[in-house]
Amino acid sequence: MPPLAAASNLLLLRLHPPLTFALRRLSISSLSNPTSHPDNNPLRAKTSLLNDSSHLIRSSPLTGPALSTNHQTSLLPNQAIGFVASSQANFMHVIVEKPGPDPQNSNSDGSNLLDPRIGTDLLCVVRDLLKKIKRRVLVGDKVIVGSVDWKDKRGMIEDVFERVTEVIDPPVANVDHLLVFFALDQPKLEPFNLTRFLVEAESTGIPLNLVLNKTELIPEETLFDWKERLQSWGYQPLFCSVDKKVGLSAIGEKLKGKTTVLMGPSGVGKSSLINALRGGQNDADEDIMNKLLEQNSKWFGEQRVGTVSTKSGKGKHTTRHVSLLPLAGGGFLADTPGFNQPSLIKVTKRNLAHTFPEIRRMMQESAPSRCSFNDCLHLGEPGCVVKGDWERYPYYLQLLDEIKVREEFQIRTFGTKREGEFRYKTRSGGIKQAEPKLDRKKHRRISRKRINQSIADDIEDDIFDP
Ligand code: GDP
Ligand code: ZN
Repeated sequence: MPPLAAASNLLLLRLHPPLTFALRRLSISSLSNPTSHPDNNPLRAKTSLLNDSSHLIRSSPLTGPALSTNHQTSLLPNQAIGFVASSQANFMHVIVEKPGPDPQNSNSDGSNLLDPRIGTDLLCVVRDLLKKIKRRVLVGDKVIVGSVDWKDKRGMIEDVFERVTEVIDPPVANVDHLLVFFALDQPKLEPFNLTRFLVEAESTGIPLNLVLNKTELIPEETLFDWKERLQSWGYQPLFCSVDKKVGLSAIGEKLKGKTTVLMGPSGVGKSSLINALRGGQNDADEDIMNKLLEQNSKWFGEQRVGTVSTKSGKGKHTTRHVSLLPLAGGGFLADTPGFNQPSLIKVTKRNLAHTFPEIRRMMQESAPSRCSFNDCLHLGEPGCVVKGDWERYPYYLQLLDEIKVREEFQIRTFGTKREGEFRYKTRSGGIKQAEPKLDRKKHRRISRKRINQSIADDIEDDIFDP
């Protein structure tokens, strides 16, 4: 191995643990709405991440405009608006929220809450045209489904509504809540590791709650010490014992009506929590999907190619299966097996400070003086309002160092530190390595004429397809 490659592997081993949990948000709407901020985190509303433009990472990957959220669609009887609950290979599982008019019932326009079609699970494929214009459909997306066969419960996703947020890993749209979940013991609560997860969560700008599990394993004084300590960090943690079924209803309240991603290291009780909150709905989502696939195998025909072979098990898990689990008390929880190590890939030297509630508070309290320099890194620069007398300041410095090393490495290697210009490949041994993204235009030139022609063909098919 050439020396540089060897060195970079080592470096990346330190910087990018094999399992990553990368998140991003797309728009500022939930930040500009103070009511959407977590009640455990009053500082967020005042000192938003918006001050730092580098934080608004990329625009939506949807090419061309998606339907705006207040788009008024008059639906046809074989159409419906729904929510993508899970995906596997080419299939999406859509739950109907608003069906088109029911020809059997002339009063129905889908707005009738008693319409039995609401809540139907439709097994869907994505219309080719959407794939051609690279409009990706993600779990969590609100979509228009067409060609609905209400009897056999299947359809085709025809369009996607604008998304408010997008989490990259797991790929889920419209997440509006993060649950950072740790155990007080077994594994022992480690403040720096907890900080990494909190920084990763905060960097998305998505409201978060912190929950600590396994309360029964520690003495009450230790619990109060942690409570005070975390309050000094700027959090109001919830405590629970999934084993003893203590504190679960308070968590259920926080999740109600929201789409939540659960984050935390392994062994803290995430799967146990999911099972407890699902209240016995233990039917594995994958099984439902496979059952529907079996039932509809004839109709989907060609589409089955490329999906998981259930018989041989070959190719299993080559395509990430992502699902949003409906909770007994309302709301959805993204199941994220194996994603238990934050990568901090989206955190930069400039926006790291905003992910610490303590720094946000100091900046707020000192306003309007703030730090003398706009790009202050709070390392004791003249006129800096962030002092070093708080518990997590050493963690801030340590993470800043780590991010600096990563940014310098990226500049040295690729001449840029912009994350969007890399992709991360997992090499043998689970080592993550950055490499520059190939520019599609340069390396895989598909003639524009060909793309236009194939889109035109599709539109024509649609027009002539009754
Ligand atoms: P995950 O890796 O985060 O999904 O964690 P699991 O749900 O697999 O749980 C890891 C272990 O912790 C299992 O042995 C659980 O039975 C145990 N566990 C979960 N909740 C509690 C709890 O409240 N108290 C105790 N003592 N153990 C728990
Ligand atoms: Zn400063």
